[in-house]
Amino acid sequence: MKDENILEVQQLKKHFHLGKNRILQAVNNVTFQVRRGETFGLVGESGCGKSTIGRTIMGLYDRTEGNVIFDGQNVHERNEKEMFMLRQRMQMIFQDPYASLNPRSTVREVISEPMEVHKLYKNKKEQNERVFELLEEVGLNRDHANRYPHEFSGGQRQRIGIARALALNPDFIIADEPISALDVSVQAQVVNLLKQLQEEKGLTFLFIAHDLSMVKQISDRIGVMYLGNMVELTESDSLYEKPLHPYTQALLSAIPIPDPDIEEARERIILQGELPSPINPPSGCVFRTRCPFAMEICSQKKPAWQEVDDNHFVACHLYLEDRKQKQHTEPVVKIR
Ligand code: SF4
Repeated sequence: MKDENILEVQQLKKHFHLGKNRILQAVNNVTFQVRRGETFGLVGESGCGKSTIGRTIMGLYDRTEGNVIFDGQNVHERNEKEMFMLRQRMQMIFQDPYASLNPRSTVREVISEPMEVHKLYKNKKEQNERVFELLEEVGLNRDHANRYPHEFSGGQRQRIGIARALALNPDFIIADEPISALDVSVQAQVVNLLKQLQEEKGLTFLFIAHDLSMVKQISDRIGVMYLGNMVELTESDSLYEKPLHPYTQALLSAIPIPDPDIEEARERIILQGELPSPINPPSGCVFRTRCPFAMEICSQKKPAWQEVDDNHFVACHLYLEDRKQKQHTEPVVKIR
């Protein structure tokens, strides 16, 4: 029987050595699992390490420590041939579809390139038929095959990027800010397309974004990142109904509510200060320099990653570390 999790990220650390003893701590001891067929949302401000995690999972970056296990295989312990096979099953969609598509290639060439590299089809006719099918699956049509990326709108280009990601029939797709560069009206269409493809093909998504409101629409579970650390992880509904970490609460309180009365009455958490540098992160809890509830212990001790409620993990000293002595799992501050 297949494992419930298609991906296990275990204590993953990714540091970049910048010279002169300067180390950029992009990802620090991050652990999470992605279940087969779900969409796992990874959110946080830019520079929090979420895209680095995506690239390290894909094997585009080597890990510093920890493991990435994809369907039972340790990604960073594969040889070149094994990695080539694994890449067929893991694909990426990027934020800027224009930058990720070769402007001198036709749409047909863009989509068929991975098929050729992996020698997927016996002849050009079969390959072209598959390109046409993929174009139709993403809401374009076969007449688009001979056109160039610059002839398309942003939303259409993202559809081409999605068709290319689907070319090898992957099981798992990392979508790295796939809608951030698109108009709001187009964002919803692309999200709906991803949902529809997921249902039809049983895909698993890791959806990386900085915008919590959009992530909620697509994700089954969400992990919140801050300065290279995962600070909270739970089911999408729980995160919105009962956010525990002060950073998650602040992110949620920044999302405007369309009802002016509720919007006027609700309490907001305004984060003070700038995001610290990952080259010199704060001691103890990395969020302490901006946290309205920081206590003495927060600068001295890194909060443990603990399950404070069923499937609800948080790293914060406001919640007791010993589950048996658990006194409260309610948010310390109500923001809505
Ligand atoms: Fe705030 Fe302390 Fe919790 Fe960090 S550990 S989020 S500083 S209360």
